[in-house]
Amino acid sequence: MEGIIFDIKHFAVHDGPGIRQTIFLKGCPLSCWWCHNPESQDPKPEKFIRIHKLDGQEYKKEETAGYQISVGELFTIIQGDQIFYEESGGGVTFSGGEPLMQYEFLAEMLKLCKMNHIHTCIDTTGYASLKIIEKIALLADCFLFDLKLMNHKSHQKYTGVPVERILNNLRWLDNNQANVVLRFPVIPGITDTTKNIGEIKSFIQTLQNIHQIDLLPYHDVANGKYERFHKENKMKGTRPLSDREMLNLKLEFEAIGLKVGIGG
Ligand code: SF4
Repeated sequence: MEGIIFDIKHFAVHDGPGIRQTIFLKGCPLSCWWCHNPESQDPKPEKFIRIHKLDGQEYKKEETAGYQISVGELFTIIQGDQIFYEESGGGVTFSGGEPLMQYEFLAEMLKLCKMNHIHTCIDTTGYASLKIIEKIALLADCFLFDLKLMNHKSHQKYTGVPVERILNNLRWLDNNQANVVLRFPVIPGITDTTKNIGEIKSFIQTLQNIHQIDLLPYHDVANGKYERFHKENKMKGTRPLSDREMLNLKLEFEAIGLKVGIGG
């Protein structure tokens, strides 16, 4: 069986416990305004032109984002860093895009990792059928689960999909005592409003087993990518929050008893 990935990050330290290898699977059902990886959204490999500068000259080169890889090939790459997982209590994180979009490939990878005692995390939007969530929850050790906007209309507007399925899946994972760390992308003027933060805190307080959240600061690092992939950058010119503002937000979530990290 083969999947399509677009990147592999070695020695990642913000994608779950310990030192990890993060595999980025291609394809995402969402289209968030602030996406740092716009090349992740299309499920198929995409061609683009990269401009290289050398001695004041510009050179254009056609490249492709995304490639097919077999379960066996990818597992060999994962095993290459196994000593670091063992030493640090780390493992592998499947990210994207949305890794659940390729859930059959993902399930095969998770089975192999489980058989070889490699810890696994799924970095997910939670936007998948409950059947898929149930299957993957049997195989994965941990979910890094995004919570973005609680209001239905806002979620639809800024991510392109409704929020209900995501909240239902999160509640199912909580009821079934899955190991979940929440992730909150702090997007100026969109997700960081007093109303949205208040609603997110109220929702989290109804969960029984989830006690940790990572705040993911907005960065404007993807501007070049939007140009390369001819995609509209709706966040152009947005100022990231200051360290002080992020710290205040951290204190706010800590005040409801959560363990809070910044970054991811
Ligand atoms: S869920 Fe993540 S990968 Fe998908 S569009 Fe949103 S930010 Fe991009």
